[in-house]
Amino acid sequence: MQGWEQSDTMTDPYYLTPRWRRLRERILRRDGYQCQIALRYGKHVQATHVHHIFPRDLYPEYEWQPWNLISVSGEAHNMLHDRTTGVLTSAGVELMERTRRRLGGVPPGQPPKT
Ligand SMILES: [Zn+2]
Repeated sequence: MQGWEQSDTMTDPYYLTPRWRRLRERILRRDGYQCQIALRYGKHVQATHVHHIFPRDLYPEYEWQPWNLISVSGEAHNMLHDRTTGVLTSAGVELMERTRRRLGGVPPGQPPKT
């Protein structure tokens, strides 16, 4: 099971835990319930998903880091993951690289200084 959050095919019990549900709600509130991908293009779209920028399976150390989470619409989320395998698309990888640059490089295993 790779990085799908709240998708139709979701079976990972992680997304059912109260801890995740609380954090997810916090991120949506932080982002004003707006899709942050659409917002980059000046569009206001309601966010329904919270995406892990650095995928959980590859970067479990960033799993609970608010900086690693972003509110997105279902449509934007489908563009960040391959629908069948759940792995990041080039757009998903680009978002990861952009985040890494924005944070001044994230060393593996260490949270970035914010
Ligand atoms: Zn995702």
